[in-house]
Amino acid sequence: SLIEPGWQFDNSYAKLPQMLYSSLSPTAVHAPQLVAFNAPLAVSLGLQPSVLDGEDGAAVFAGNVVPEGAEPLAQAYAGHQFGHFTMLGDGRAILLGEQITPEGKRYDIQLKGAGRTPFSRGGDGRAALGPMLREYIISEAMHALGIPTTRSLAVVSTGEPVYRESELPGAVLTRVAASHIRVGTFQFVSASQRYPELQALADYTLERHYPEALAADNRYLALLQEVIKRQASLIAHWQLAGFVHGVMNTDNMAISGETIDYGPCAFLDTFDPATVFSSIDSQGRYAYGNQPRIAAWNLTRFAEALLPLIDEDSEQAVKLAEQELPRFIDLYHEHWLSGMRAKLGLISEEEQDEQLIEELLALMQKHRADYTNTFRALTLGTQEASDLFGAEEFAQWQELWTARLERQPATRAEAQALMRSSNPAVIPRNHRVEEALAAAVDEGDFGVMERLLQALKEPYAYSPGQEAYAAAPEPSSCRYRTYCGT
Ligand code: AMP
Ligand code: MG
Ligand code: MG
Repeated sequence: SLIEPGWQFDNSYAKLPQMLYSSLSPTAVHAPQLVAFNAPLAVSLGLQPSVLDGEDGAAVFAGNVVPEGAEPLAQAYAGHQFGHFTMLGDGRAILLGEQITPEGKRYDIQLKGAGRTPFSRGGDGRAALGPMLREYIISEAMHALGIPTTRSLAVVSTGEPVYRESELPGAVLTRVAASHIRVGTFQFVSASQRYPELQALADYTLERHYPEALAADNRYLALLQEVIKRQASLIAHWQLAGFVHGVMNTDNMAISGETIDYGPCAFLDTFDPATVFSSIDSQGRYAYGNQPRIAAWNLTRFAEALLPLIDEDSEQAVKLAEQELPRFIDLYHEHWLSGMRAKLGLISEEEQDEQLIEELLALMQKHRADYTNTFRALTLGTQEASDLFGAEEFAQWQELWTARLERQPATRAEAQALMRSSNPAVIPRNHRVEEALAAAVDEGDFGVMERLLQALKEPYAYSPGQEAYAAAPEPSSCRYRTYCGT
């Protein structure tokens, strides 16, 4: 072909100290077939969809052909998994390099499921088709909702089986990220007590994600402050959307502030802070209602990893870090409260707003109301909302809410416009995601998934085509559970 695919790789990570990665190529697969391709994302990366949406793309996104300029590597990192510190690393993911977009932005292009690496431990280095399509759907839905996230460029089926509890079709996902630097990346270097390398990683991270902070008196303390800010905003986004990550291990927390590593994640149907989707999370450590606390815990691990850089005097370093960490919950709460105000159409601020919000959430929990559809109904008009739960209790709450709306210097139309832009008409509900995956994996029918992706593209549009996707699951349908790492 005369048209070039558009790859513009730079490989800055490969210039970092050697302990941070291991150079290697993906392992080729038998019969790659492109089953999902994100043409708009490709265009924004400066890639040519017409060159990549067929066999040539399948070969690249399977790892069979390494594009020109890429220097593939697997990243080393550690992490607290369910509270226990472990040495990890990319056991089944290979970073091709960083694509420089026409606007000069830098994005990691990573193949997930690309074969064994020195960090694979007992694993096969592979991924199953269902979970990779799941990451594609949910990450693209998160992006459309306005939540910072890694993106999905392509899924290739490999034509090879992977063996889990049963034999499953294999796949490779192409993930696009601001970077794959994790809290666990810092933990890995810090735990190895390699301080020059720790400083190199911190300086690299500052330049890549927080260049304004380079000028601070203490740039490493500034790095901690900036990461705290991004995570406070991110976790508030999750809580407001009803998103449960499922595996908030420190290796799954990105320093960039993007949501990363979609495993047993899902959106709430009924509102219950104790909601857990991961079948291996028996203690509920990563339940919906625990996510802010876990993020604070992870950030404390990040601060610990940075201590040797924050101050030569370790007591002084601890003192400085301890001053910053409590800011997370305050910032998180500010984001959450302003987001909740927007969900209720509150343009002004009153002291009692938080109580009004908490009373609604308590009613929703008591009556097992659907989280998304409660706010959707409030947005569309209260007629529908009163059907959702306890008519009398709702009427009492609604009276307070209506009075509050009337007190603010804004019209009802202005309040409704704010609500429409803050309350999604659709989210990727588990039962619809599972239905799409079953059609794709069991029947080879990708149309169900394509229609779902279409409905999720503009979640705040309230278009007629989305209505079919808004319905909550039948109460009888069994509770969604999944495993991570498949
Ligand atoms: P995750 O639960 O996806 O965050 O993965 C935790 C760790 O296990 C990471 O180091 C992964 O690279 C690794 N891992 C997960 N699945 C596999 C696999 N099939 N083969 C090798 N390593 C894996
Ligand atoms: Mg090198
Ligand atoms: Mg992970």
